[in-house]
Amino acid sequence: MPNQRYRLVIVGSGTGGVSVAARMMKSGQFKQGEVAIIDPAKNHYYQPLWTIVGAGVYDKKVTKKKQNDVIPNGVEWIKHLVSEFKPDENLVMLDNGDLILYEYLVVAAGIQIDWNKIAGLEGNLGKNGICSNYSFDYVDKTWEFLKKTKAGDNLVFTQPPMPIKCAGAPQKIVYLADDFLRKNGLREHVKIDFNLAGPGIFGVPKYKAALEKVLEEKKLQPNYEHNLVEVRAAEKIAIFEHKGERIEKKYDLLHVVPPMSSPDFIKRSPIADEGGWVDVDKYSLQHKKFSNIFSLGDCSSLPTSKTGAAIRKQAPVLVKNLLSLMKGDSLSAKYDGYASCPLVTSYSTCILAEFGYDGKIMETFPFDQAKPRRSMWILKAYLLSPMYWYGMLKGRA
Ligand SMILES: Cc1cc2nc3c(=O)[nH]c(=O)nc-3n(C[C@H](O)[C@H](O)[C@H](O)COP(=O)(O)OP(=O)(O)OC[C@H]3O[C@@H](n4cnc5c(N)ncnc54)[C@H](O)[C@@H]3O)c2cc1C
Repeated sequence: MPNQRYRLVIVGSGTGGVSVAARMMKSGQFKQGEVAIIDPAKNHYYQPLWTIVGAGVYDKKVTKKKQNDVIPNGVEWIKHLVSEFKPDENLVMLDNGDLILYEYLVVAAGIQIDWNKIAGLEGNLGKNGICSNYSFDYVDKTWEFLKKTKAGDNLVFTQPPMPIKCAGAPQKIVYLADDFLRKNGLREHVKIDFNLAGPGIFGVPKYKAALEKVLEEKKLQPNYEHNLVEVRAAEKIAIFEHKGERIEKKYDLLHVVPPMSSPDFIKRSPIADEGGWVDVDKYSLQHKKFSNIFSLGDCSSLPTSKTGAAIRKQAPVLVKNLLSLMKGDSLSAKYDGYASCPLVTSYSTCILAEFGYDGKIMETFPFDQAKPRRSMWILKAYLLSPMYWYGMLKGRA
């Protein structure tokens, strides 16, 4: 017997979950209490700003709001984790064993950060030069350690195997560190060592070429196919796997971007594809097997970049199709794979990458967005955040 029942249940109150909830409530199709959002997280974060918080542009506090302030009025908030999906019975089970019955389900539980996949890292994050922009708790440590850099130091940066959320973020902090050191007359005396698990700097050829130029201009020579596997924190040594060999590097600052994967409770569920992601049609966002389930964002199987910008275009498609399904109409809205990545290249410039499925360029502005520009920095640093809180999360943008 279910403990509670709702017309629509949304799993995850992050970017995707709140965007969908807001649009659903705006549609006028739901009465108070007919929609529930399940997530134990007390706070909601605007994660894209963490890149520049780590470089000292903002205090991390500006990226956080109380979950209560972003969950739309009329939506019930269930403060638990979902532990199991039972799609044949239209049920989800919570971590306290309660069963929630739904007519329609949207899964937006984000991506899982697998810190434990790097041996020796646990307990050492935020200490002795180890930091990460991928965690609200430690993002300020990046800036704290960067400020302490002195001549002769070795700054090591990492990028794990794909997929990760915001594939551009690991390199943005490298460019910001470079610029910070230049401004302080230290760049010539400090080594920046950028190690990427993959074979290239970016997936989309147009932006890859532009970023290779940025690297060249900054005299940065990334080490491709170098995957961080272990940290020996007491000795300040990072160990990378490179073509079957283990390479040890001494560091003074180690910026770790952790490996990521689909959340475990999705991986082991009947709604996952072979890779562990929620198995949805890439155009309609409807589950391939269970027609009353939809998914968007980082936990979905959508073959595009895992970004909030992608969710901005996915949410209206999902909502339109779900409302059509409820009315018995065919699903006509199509997602074209749009994603965007503001690739910050210094404290005053940014390349705005915008692309769709198969790397199709989908730029908004009437100029070449692969060129680093001040206008795109202004967009990234000052305009996108209010657009997120007051546009996207309110179902307006
Ligand atoms: C450093 C950094 C820089 C970034 N830069 C950019 C950028 O410049 N541009 C851009 O567009 N994007 C950027 N992103 C990516 C963007 O923030 C994410 O892609 C986006 O937030 C994903 O939204 P989501 O709804 O899929 O997941 P999230 O917003 O992460 O939300 C997932 C929610 O699900 C909840 N949850 C997890 N498991 C369960 C469970 N079992 N039961 C219930 N709830 C659960 C979590 O508590 C969380 O609240 C960046 C991210 C980071 C970390």
